This record gives sequence, C-alpha cells and structure tokens, in this order.
Amino acid sequence: MKITSSEFVISNTDYTKCPDPDKPEYAFIGRSNVGKSSLINMLTEKNKLAKTSGKPGKTQLINHFLINKTWFLVDLPGYGWAQVSKEMKEQWNRMTKNYLAQRENLYNVFVLIDSRIPPQKIDIEFLNWLGEHKVPFSIVFTKADKPNNSKIQSNVASFKAELSKSWEELPPTFITSSAQKVGRKELLEYVGQINESI
Ligand code: GDP
Repeated sequence: MKITSSEFVISNTDYTKCPDPDKPEYAFIGRSNVGKSSLINMLTEKNKLAKTSGKPGKTQLINHFLINKTWFLVDLPGYGWAQVSKEMKEQWNRMTKNYLAQRENLYNVFVLIDSRIPPQKIDIEFLNWLGEHKVPFSIVFTKADKPNNSKIQSNVASFKAELSKSWEELPPTFITSSAQKVGRKELLEYVGQINESI
C-alpha cells in the first residue's frame, strides 16, 4: 500500500467521542519510549505527524489520523511511565482499555516491543489482557536498526518463547527500525490486506 495522504482528525480522552466508526481502524501502542511516534512518522513519511517523546504527566490522548481517506491510524497513549501518579495510571487504564475493548471498527492493535531489551513483564501482561478481551493484535519489534544483530534476534526469540507460555498460536510479528526504515513495506502490506478483506 502506498500512503498518499495522512491527516490529523481529532484527539480524545473518551472513546465514545472518537470519529464515527465507519472506516477500518488500526491502533499503535506500547511502553513509553518504545519508539511509537517515530514508527508512525516513518510509516506515514511525515516527520511530525505523531509527536515524539512526550513527558510523563502530560495529557494522555487517543489521537486519530485519517490515512488515504480510507482508514484510521490511532496513536494511543503509552504505558509504563516510571514516575506517574496512581491517578494517571487509573486514567490510562480507564481510557485506553475502554477504547480497546469497545471500539467496534478496530481491526488490529499493533503492540510495539523494544527489540533491544529482554522481555518485560508489563508487555506480556498487556498482551494477555488483549487476548482475554478478544482484541486482535500483532507485535511490532522496534529499534532493530541492525535486524540481524544477535542481541536483537535473541531478544525477539525470548519474547516469542515467553508468549508461547500462554498462547498456543503466536500473532503476526514484524521487525522494524524507524531509523533505518526497516519493516515499513511489510506493515503497510498487512494493513492493506486486512482492508481488502473487509
Ligand atoms: P514514543 O515515546 O514511544 O513515541 O517513542 P519515540 O518515537 O519518541 O522514541 C523514543 C526514543 O527512541 C527517541 O529517542 C527516538 O529517537 C528513539 N528511537 C525511536 N525509534 C528508533 C529506531 O528505530 N532506532 C533507534 N536507534 N532509536 C529509535
């Protein structure tokens, strides 16, 4: 799929106020600093579409972008900030989990995982929550600037092994680097295939 247009639509804290669910939607989420904004900007080839590296404490929003006038790309607030209040964590839970569990046109959640570090409990728990709520997801390993690097490969393998403990079948996985533009074609093709099947 070629991206010919990407435009910001609206930011929300409440899924009921998101745009009408009349187009297929794909959401991106991950631990803070996982490289989500960089990935969205790499995919859309717009340097400033998603804002990079927000600070903890800043308003957390569900951001909708319209791509090729046909599908929504959604930038969800990251989880796992080291120093946020209990209130902020609860707000994230309410807002994001309501959105994920209720949004009827959500075809896939891309969960971003940092390929430079070993498996993290918070990521596994989040994926298990998605599974329990029957939210379809795929895994996007980020920051794989050198995809063949042995550390990256062993982190990816450990993550999959960790997931296999609770899942019989593994979801689709993608290896990406926004810095090196790795994985762009594969991710966009995947979205294109789902869009065509609808
Ligand atoms: P977000 O908080 O998940 O939106 O993460 P950002 O996109 O703001 O990225 C967090 C940090 O990781 C920034 O310092 C980025 O420059 C860096 N980063 C993001 N993607 C890559 C990548 O593909 N390779 C490398 N080496 N660094 C990256």
